[in-house]
Parts: sequence; structure tokens; C-alpha cells
Amino acid sequence: MDPALGPPEAMAEKRDELTPMMAQYHDLCARYDDAIVLFQVGDFYETFCGAAERTARLLEIALTSREDSTGEYPMAGIPIDNAESYVETLLEAGYRVAVADQVEEPGESPGVVERAVTRVVTPGTLTEDELLASDDNNFVAAVARGRGSGVESDGDPELALALLDVSTGDFFATSSTSSEAIADEVSRFGPSEAVVGPNAPADLFAEGCMVTPYDATAFDRDRAGETVSRYFRNPDALLASDAEIRACGALLAYAEYVRGGEHEGERDTTLEDDEADGNGAERGADAETDDPDRNRLEYITHLTRYDPREYLLLDAVAMRSLELFEPRAVEGREEATLVGVLDETACALGGRTLRDWIRRPLLEPDRIEARLDAVEELTGDVRTRESLHDGLRNVYDLERLIGRISRERANARDLRSLRDTLAVVPEIREEIADADCTRLQALHESLDPLVDVRELIEDAIVSDPPIEITEGDIIAEGYDDGLDDLRATARDGKQWIDDLEDGERERTGIDSLKVGYNSVHGYYIEVTNPNLESVPEDYQRRQTLKNSERFVTPELKEREDQIVGAEERADEREYELFCEVRREIAAEVERVQGLADALATLDALVSLATVAAQYDYCRPEMLERDDRAGLEIDIEGGRHPVVERTQESFVPNDANLTNNRRLAVITGPNMSGKSTYMRQVAQIALLAQVGSFVPARAARLTPVDRIFTRVGASDDIAGGRSTFMVEMDELATILREADEHSLVLLDEVGRGTSTADGLAIAQAITEHLHDVVGATALFATHHHPLTELADDLEAAFTLHFEVNQLEGEVVFHHDIAPGAATGSYGVEVATAAGVPADVVERSRELVADAAGDGTADGDDGRTDAEATDEVTTKATATADGGDVPTDVAAELRALDLAHLTPVEALTELDRLKQLLDE
Ligand code: ADP
Ligand code: MG
Repeated sequence: MDPALGPPEAMAEKRDELTPMMAQYHDLCARYDDAIVLFQVGDFYETFCGAAERTARLLEIALTSREDSTGEYPMAGIPIDNAESYVETLLEAGYRVAVADQVEEPGESPGVVERAVTRVVTPGTLTEDELLASDDNNFVAAVARGRGSGVESDGDPELALALLDVSTGDFFATSSTSSEAIADEVSRFGPSEAVVGPNAPADLFAEGCMVTPYDATAFDRDRAGETVSRYFRNPDALLASDAEIRACGALLAYAEYVRGGEHEGERDTTLEDDEADGNGAERGADAETDDPDRNRLEYITHLTRYDPREYLLLDAVAMRSLELFEPRAVEGREEATLVGVLDETACALGGRTLRDWIRRPLLEPDRIEARLDAVEELTGDVRTRESLHDGLRNVYDLERLIGRISRERANARDLRSLRDTLAVVPEIREEIADADCTRLQALHESLDPLVDVRELIEDAIVSDPPIEITEGDIIAEGYDDGLDDLRATARDGKQWIDDLEDGERERTGIDSLKVGYNSVHGYYIEVTNPNLESVPEDYQRRQTLKNSERFVTPELKEREDQIVGAEERADEREYELFCEVRREIAAEVERVQGLADALATLDALVSLATVAAQYDYCRPEMLERDDRAGLEIDIEGGRHPVVERTQESFVPNDANLTNNRRLAVITGPNMSGKSTYMRQVAQIALLAQVGSFVPARAARLTPVDRIFTRVGASDDIAGGRSTFMVEMDELATILREADEHSLVLLDEVGRGTSTADGLAIAQAITEHLHDVVGATALFATHHHPLTELADDLEAAFTLHFEVNQLEGEVVFHHDIAPGAATGSYGVEVATAAGVPADVVERSRELVADAAGDGTADGDDGRTDAEATDEVTTKATATADGGDVPTDVAAELRALDLAHLTPVEALTELDRLKQLLDE
């Protein structure tokens, strides 16, 4: 057990003797025993004992101690004013944080100040803007299994996944009988936290995802059904299965639990009850009170239930290898991703929507065409595009804003931000008033400028309010008569005081008399010592200074009370009014979310159009899916969207894959462009299904159901997947799950083992893909015999890249051509480096044999050992012949050409040449 978590032992031992405050701390730690409890004491959040020692180290804050009659306890505190950055550090260190605030004013009731956990901060349920990436969602997931009414029924294959972004209200649910399919959905959304019931598979989640065990009863079918029905009218109609209801219900319960707020109700569960349960992980269930709606999160208004098969399926490996969100190279820059090249969005809303589109490319032609129509229309009109972009730049993050408003955490500035956004909506809307395509027309309709909300804010809130919401200066003049009266009273009083100085000077004849104010004594009349004898009777002495005396009069006192009283009541009234306005706006949460959604979609479309225009993309022609004919991918002059941005010039290449030409075996030297070519084909297909234009001169495509990519072990060391086992495991998945609507990229697979095995495996895979699976596949390989195999298979064909030498330099054309590559790369480079022709010729033979590729004599089915034996003999014979010395031959044989970079190869050849010269 982590000593930073749970009730400190030193306190638990003497729980009954503790001071009331420490007893409170102890009990909160016991209740929130999977979180570090930050305990408000005045302006600080304190931690004690084990938690203090840990936070002091992690946060680099001073470790002090607190002493009372019961003992001395280590203590470390952080200032409340900038708690967020400290909380972030604790989250990064893998902790949850329970924030226990003082929920009454000191002295409000007898005894110790009441404290309660107002929120539990966990990686998946953040709502603080400072802790969130603005242009990406942050999801918490829940998985559940099973039918029936029990807690969780084993043996039922149905597995459901629910995903919620607490900061925006985005809420998804899906299910499948295949746990692999659910794992794919998990990696698609990349949740930062997962809530799991007792027998949920925990291995679904990536390493960076915090797994939170949660109250089993929250997953109970009936309990979960009740929870969901508090949010959505008919859970059984909305969700597809019991498993989905369990997952959604548990997730909503968890979201309510971390939101805290238990102090608002008569939560009377005592610590003793918790302990009696004897279950530390048990949470949330006892949060139920008479009014279960009390904890309802108003901004969760819609739930998107989907089937994984509605979208192009991508698993974690494919997402990584296609560089959707993460650069492939370890040192890769952030722009070196698909999202990086596509993201020209103007606001956070659009950024998140674009990411969602990339995460879930469409399958349905109508939906794809609708986006493409909009992109095309915007691509053709620079002026509209640019003014839309400018307008959208003024759009605040409405989703998170309305979330804060509805959680009652928004201040007056947030409301003004909402108003500022609403103010730009009419202009944005006007820009697409004459749109031709239905998608933009529909957006025009949905861009409701919420005039009522805007006017409410304009009437109620001053234009430049302070951050504090309890200290006045928020509510505009003329909004509330009562408030205006209070303010008038305060103003009158102040005016009277302003006039007082002149009046008293006249009355007393003391010209130097002054009226002033200080925060301790209030208003006073100050008279310097020489004038003291002129002071009238009604002056009462208040304060004696070195050179003067300060007085008050009964009337001044009265006025002062009037001012102070009015100001205090005005502040209170302002706060009340502010909360009312905030609640009134919160009631419009669905309309604000609807507007946010429309703005987000428009921003994403404008972004796609901007990229299309700027980088010369073309509109893909989407072909009808024909179930008998498999895929058609016909790309003219295609480019790799990411690579083309990172280098000066890029050589476009065609791709032509149809049902009877669906398996391409691609050969060519290292660095000639094989991997780039394959990925660009997949990325173009994917982009089209996102609804984007594509980097090509022309493209005709049928929607792809699923993209698989596997990169041979040695090519993907950066990804940390370097074992042959992993490679085989992934290949097995492809062979099992791919079908004729899948696009499969195999990049140098079969490398992680000996040459003969590798070739055998590559060959068997090719045959199986061709004969059984029927998928469209691109296979880059260094196994030359595969090209011969391709000649034998009816729907397979070969492609290759070549290199040339020009004045001793190796030149890469990156230009794909039909047929198999002619020679091995090392030989080309050897010629370029000026190695004598006979040596080159001989090494060609040797290399071919040693690599077991059998280019010269074909594949004669020898085992590796036999082949090696023979090479040894040959080499010796050659050495005897005097052409190539044995040591050079041996070194040549040992060269692993497939793993050499061009520079290494050149260096190596240069060294061999010198050896020969000697
Ligand atoms: P291979 O897989 O054949 O070893 P890569 O596809 O990794 O080769 O390409 C190596 C490098 O060549 C890429 O990083 C890129 O810089 C460049 N390259 C690849 N294809 C092209 C192209 N079509 N036009 C221009 N440069 C290219
Ligand atoms: Mg490669």
C-alpha cells in the first residue's frame, strides 16, 4: 500500500483522540483511499504524514510539521491560488487527487469548519482548462461484459465500451463479441483512464492509461439502467445491449462521483458504514440520496451509440504506422503526422472535430460525399474560406465553456466569452447563406446565434468583469432594480461624504481639515494639532496620530454604515443575480452544444478545404462498393501527405489495384521509397474516407473497411516491437480478420528470423492473402523469390524501385515501375564507388547465394545450412582462383545488406576496396 494513500497510520491508531480537524482529515483519507487528499486549511491545501512526505518530494515544497496535543505530524501544503499546476504534477506521477474544500465560512457553525471533497481529479475526468489539451478530447472509458441482471455474468462474450469526455460532454458507446475489436476501439479513442468492474479485461488498455477499479454495483444491470435513464429517456432503445447499459451506467456514476458535491445533500453515510462494507474499492453506490437527480451532470445531453463496423477500422499498430497522431520517428516533429498536415483549424472546437474525423474515417458513401461536397465548395472560394477562418478564430471553446457553466464553475468572464462568441455567429452564418451543397446549407440552419442568451448576458453582465464572482462589479446597471437601489444608496452616502469636507471646513473654519478613509477605522475627519481647539462638540475622537487627531461624528458613522451595508448587500445581490443568470444559461446547454457542434464542423471543413487548396489536393471519386468485386484503388500521381511536406521535392507515383490486380509485391533497394509508397496509398484511401481531398492528380476509390499494416520487426525498432513473436502474432491477426474489403500493408515482414524461415513465411502469407483472404495488399520485401511467386499468382503483380549512379553518386528516383527490381542494392553502390567490374560481378553471385535469395539459380529449396556450406566452398574456390582474397570474400558474405544504410554501405565498400588494394 502506498503510504501517501489512505488514512495515515499514525492517525488511525488514535482516531478517537484526534483533534476535530485531524479527525476530519483522517476520515476523508479513509473515504477517498485511492487518492491523495488535499485538505483546505485557510489559503492552503495541506497534506499530512505519508502524503506530506510524498507531495513534498514530488512538488518540491517544504516539509514542515503540525503539532497538537495528540502528537506531531509531518505536513506539506500548497497555496490554493495556484493549486492546478501542483495537481497536474501529482496526476503525472500517477495519483488521483481528492480536493477537500472548506464548505462553510469559519465561525458559521460551532466547532470545526466543515470540509468536503468537492471534486476528485483523475487523468480521465479533468475539466480544468489548464490541465487539458485544447485541441484534443480527453476520454475516460468503462468496459463491461454480460447480459442478465447479475453484477456481471461471466461467459457472455458481449463486451461493451463506453467513452466520455467529461470536459465537453462527448459520450460514445459501442460493443462487440470480439475483445480485439473492443481493443481497437480503445486505441482509437486513447482514453487516459479506464473504469473497470470486477471481471473486466484490464489488458485492453495501453500503458499510459490509468485503470480505476470501481464499485461493482454501479455495473449492475438494473442499477446502471436507472443511472442511464436519468440522462436519456429510453436506455433500452438507445443502447444495443445489457453490456452497453452496464458500461454507460457505471461511467456516468463514476463521472458523478468524481464531480464531488456530496456536501450539498444530506449525505449521512459514516466512515463506520464504509468500514463495515470491508471493501475499499466500493464507491459511488452510497452517494445515492433521496434525490438521485441531484448529482446529474446537466451537460451530458447526448450519447452516440455506434457499431465499430460503421467506420474504417484501424488498430493501434495501423494508427501508429500511418502516423495519424504520432510521428513515427522517435525524434519526429509533431507536424510529421497526418493530423499535423491537415490541421488548419481556427478554434479548439474544430481541432477536436478534425481529430475525431481522422480517428473514425467513414464508410458510408453518402456521408463521405456530403463532406467532400462541402470541401469542394469551400476550396473553390478563397474569400469565403478566409473570412470563415477569421470569424472562427474568435470562437471560444463553447463545449468546455458550457460545461463549466453547467457545473457552476464558470465566472463572469466566461459568460462574456460566451457572449463574444455568440456575437460573431451571425457573420459566420452569413458567409454560408448562399451555399450550394446540402451540408453547408444544413450548417447554416444550425448556426443559431442564440440571441436570447446573448442579450441576457449583455443586459446582465458588465463588459469587463473581474474574475472574482463574490466581490461585485459584475452585474450591469439597469439589470436589477433592487441592486440599482443599493448602489444608489451607496453612491448617495459617498457623495455626502465627498461633500462633507467642504461643509466641515466652513462650519469649523479649519482650512486644513480632511475627510479620509482607512480599512480599519473607516471614515474619519482629520484635524491637525494646531487646530484642535476649533473642533466642535459633536466630534468624537477616534485615533491619535503624531501631528493630528482623527474624529467621527454620529452622522458620519451613520452614513458609513449605510454605505457599507449597501455595498455588502449589493455584492450579495450581485452574486445571487450572477448565479441566476448562469443557471438560466445552463438551461440552454443543448442549444449551446448544438451551436458548438455546427461551428466545429464548419471549422473542420474549412481546414480541409484550406489544405486542399494550398497543397494541390484533388477530390477523390468514390466508387460504389461491389461486394463481389473487392476493392478498387486507382491513384494517379499520388503523394505521401506527410513526407511531401518535409522535403523539397516529392516524386508522385501511381497506384492501380483492382480485384484481379490486388496483390503487389514491391522490391527495390533500401531507401528507394517502398515504405513511403505503401503508406501513401493507405493514407490517400483514409483521407478520402475522412472526407478530405487527397494528395494526387486523380483518385478513384472504393471505401476500405479496414486497414492493416505490419512493419517487419527490424524496421520498427522505434516502436519497441522487435520480437519475431510479436510480428507473427500480428500477422496471424491479419490473416484471421482481413477480408476482400481490407487494405493490407506488409513492410518487410519475415525478417525477424533466419532467411530461409523468413522467406518461407513471407511466401506462405502471400499465398494465403491471395487465395483465401482476397484482400488488397501491398507487400514490400527483400525476398526476391516472392516476385517470382507473384508471377504465378493470378491476381498478384510486381512493382519495383530502381536506383542509378551518376558520376559516382547513387541517385534515388523514387519512381515506381512495373516488374521486379533487377539487382541488389549493394552491388549498385559498389559500381558507383568504383569497385572493379569483376569484383562487383562476383560479389553479386556471392551475395545472392549467401542471402539465400537464389536470384541467380532460383529457389531450389535448400536449407540455410546447406546453402551456407556451399557458399563457403565457392568462396574458398574463388580465393584459390586468386580473384577475391578469402578475407574479403568472408567479409562480403557476412554483410547484411538488408540492414545497411547507403552511407554505411559505401563506407563498408570503401574499406573492402582498400583491403583488396593491399
Ligand atoms: P524504403 O522503404 O524503400 O527503404 P522509404 O520509403 O523509407 O524507402 O524512403 C526513404 C526516403 O526516401 C524517405 O524518407 C523519403 O525521404 C524519400 N522518398 C521516398 N519516396 C519518395 C518520393 N516518392 N519522392 C521523394 N522522396 C521520396
Ligand atoms: Mg522501408
